[in-house]
Amino acid sequence: MLKTFKGGIHPHDMKELSKDAEIETLPLPDHVHILMSQHIGAPCQPCVQKGDKVKTGQVVGEAKGFVSAPVHASITGTVTAVEDRTLPVTGVPCPAVRIERESDEDEWAEGMNKACDIASLGAEEIKERIQTAGIVGLGGATFPTHVKLSPPDNGKIDAVILNGAECEPYLTCDYRLMLRSPGEIIEGMKLIMKVLDCPNGYIGIEANKPDCYQALAEAAKAEENISAEMLAVRYPQGAEHQLIHALLGREVPSGGLPMAVGCVVQNVATAYAIYEAVNLNKPIVERIVTITGNGVERPCNVLTRIGTPLERLLTHAGLKDEARRVILGGPMMGLAVGTLDLSTIKGTSGVLVLTDPTTWEPGPCIRCGECVRHCPMRLVPSELSLLLDARDFEAALTANIMDCKECGCCSYVCPAKRPIVQQIKYGKAELGAMKKKQEERAKKKAEP
Ligand code: SF4
Ligand code: SF4
Repeated sequence: MLKTFKGGIHPHDMKELSKDAEIETLPLPDHVHILMSQHIGAPCQPCVQKGDKVKTGQVVGEAKGFVSAPVHASITGTVTAVEDRTLPVTGVPCPAVRIERESDEDEWAEGMNKACDIASLGAEEIKERIQTAGIVGLGGATFPTHVKLSPPDNGKIDAVILNGAECEPYLTCDYRLMLRSPGEIIEGMKLIMKVLDCPNGYIGIEANKPDCYQALAEAAKAEENISAEMLAVRYPQGAEHQLIHALLGREVPSGGLPMAVGCVVQNVATAYAIYEAVNLNKPIVERIVTITGNGVERPCNVLTRIGTPLERLLTHAGLKDEARRVILGGPMMGLAVGTLDLSTIKGTSGVLVLTDPTTWEPGPCIRCGECVRHCPMRLVPSELSLLLDARDFEAALTANIMDCKECGCCSYVCPAKRPIVQQIKYGKAELGAMKKKQEERAKKKAEP
């Protein structure tokens, strides 16, 4: 029996649309917008001005704080504006550096994108390269990777886990990367293990990708302490807590991080980016994006520069007249956008275009218990939904709303079509705002 976790759902994966499309490199865009907030943590500060010439790989936004990651020019050209731009993940304005391309070829910033000898690099030097390259979790979480690789002094990590599940329906960018570059992914994993002085590595791959399992098992066969593991096809198999439970049977405690049970989880695309950052001194200036759905003529997987206009991607895949909805990411965790005037960021793994404009009218909870049965975090989503209807945020906090991973399983199975995950996101945002206000009040009180 294949390893898995409790709860979750099994939607049709819809990966057949784009899984056979090999990764193609998009021509360089005419311009890009490099947003200053492409990660969890403090936004970057622009460090270039209108009129500046920039080279590919040059820092254009400096990290502000430890939980932050710098952003880099993804093309060679001239800065034509530092202006607000809509952040795809939240829809709120965010400062961005606009660069107009001036060359058909990249001119790389000094010392970048060149093979270097890494044999003598120690753990701290590797981590520093990861930090300066602006690596963040590319599975969509966008947490700065160097922070994840800095456990507290007493936090011994004995298992590095690579997430090759790609459980989100429709997306195939990781699938194509695992087939194309298994050796580089394993090298990236070895670098993570070196930084953490970790003895064991595991790669979790869902059983609907047997070719990826074979490719990674083959690439890792000389490494005695790294194993590829086939997992049951079940959403959200790739979520950190579920992956740890499936592979090692360990339970991350409520409110805790994987480090609490000796684990660090990274996506396969992040491991690949780490390989490039350390071996080539190459920052994140590009990523693979799946463009798919029944609203495009030619579903595909493209390697595209960070900051590429969304319309450029849609034109490449051929937007159909019947297209009605565009989602950044997959159907479970992605977000529908209200405008196409957006640019890709480090966390843009997919663009899903659908022709179905159906929306549902939510009904009252019929207490069927389906959401409880399927919640992988063992929460009671129906209770959270009712508490949030009543705007009782404190009670929702007591009911462990912060443990929700926003996977969407509860909304998916709810026969009353209650928008539970949207309510939870709203509730978390309200609690965050309340906490901030309390902190500000406490700070004012403490002032002399
Ligand atoms: S409550 Fe959160 S974690 Fe549980 S199923 Fe709903 S979205 Fe997923
Ligand atoms: S699935 Fe929907 S209707 Fe059923 S208990 Fe949960 S919220 Fe209520």
